[in-house]
Amino acid sequence: MAKCYRSELVGAFGCPIDENPTGVMEEAAFAAKGLDYRYLTIKVEKGDLEDAMKAVRAFHMKGINITIPHKVAVLNYLDELSEAAGIIGAVNMVVNRDGKLYGENTDGKGYLKSLTDAGVSPAGKCITVLGAGGAARAISVECALAGVKKIYIANIEREQGEELTAMLKEKTGVEAEFLMWDHTLDVPDDTEILSNATSVGLYPHTDQKPNINYDTIRPDMVVTDVIFNDPNSLFLREAGARGAKTINGLGMLVNQGALNFTMWTGVEAPVDVMTDTLKREFDLK
Ligand code: NDP
Repeated sequence: MAKCYRSELVGAFGCPIDENPTGVMEEAAFAAKGLDYRYLTIKVEKGDLEDAMKAVRAFHMKGINITIPHKVAVLNYLDELSEAAGIIGAVNMVVNRDGKLYGENTDGKGYLKSLTDAGVSPAGKCITVLGAGGAARAISVECALAGVKKIYIANIEREQGEELTAMLKEKTGVEAEFLMWDHTLDVPDDTEILSNATSVGLYPHTDQKPNINYDTIRPDMVVTDVIFNDPNSLFLREAGARGAKTINGLGMLVNQGALNFTMWTGVEAPVDVMTDTLKREFDLK
């Protein structure tokens, strides 16, 4: 058989994109599995998404990650959507299935996997989500689809928080309540999982933490953070000091990358290799 000199292509479209480390993690995974795939980190500016999505088909790319500012706009250029991506209203990865583009959102699924990897099942539990942005939407929708009993959405801006709360009730049928977060927030008493889905604490602002009353965190709560750099965030350190079980954002990041890897290649992802690669990239032990 003739030798094939063509690599399969995947990658990411976004702007800004230069500091996105996903390619290093995915390339390490391809190498570990002996797959001839290349991950291209591509700058696509706001008005250029339509052309870029045409290129996915024209280049026979296997798929593409979608990041800021295209996660919502990309819906215009897809043939099919997963249930969760449709409810969330945003896509972070696309699979090219013989020229048909399928959109999925793996952020919330990566979050759920990081919970189950830590032995935590969200079904039947009450979760309080801090924030109402993209990560909060993905987390709360996947938790609702996974059968949580109740979701509190706390947000500093009323309109966005109320919109997410209403959407959760309407589209997933979960019990949901909005908490106006214009003061130091007491974590609701019935909370079993507390999830920081805000950007507070992200490097270089590692001395910052969400404005909550940390003494309302109980030892029987599970406390999670989307922040992956530094994974040992001040928020999680405060929660850990109150005896709570903590889960950092690295697991969510690796697990969504692992899901993307498998959806593109059909091969099980080498999660350990991906985790080690990211830790090295962030200079973590
Ligand atoms: P968005 O900008 O969409 O949302 C940010 C949220 O944080 C908004 O709800 C915003 O509230 C809230 N917020 C910002 N500052 C404050 C503050 N001082 N106090 C309270 N709330 C605040 O970003 P994303 O949702 O896309 O990302 C959020 C974080 O999650 C980022 O740090 C990102 O790196 C991380 N992330 C991690 C992933 C992982 O795999 N671990 C995956 C995806 C994201 P408002 O809108 O009202 O201002």
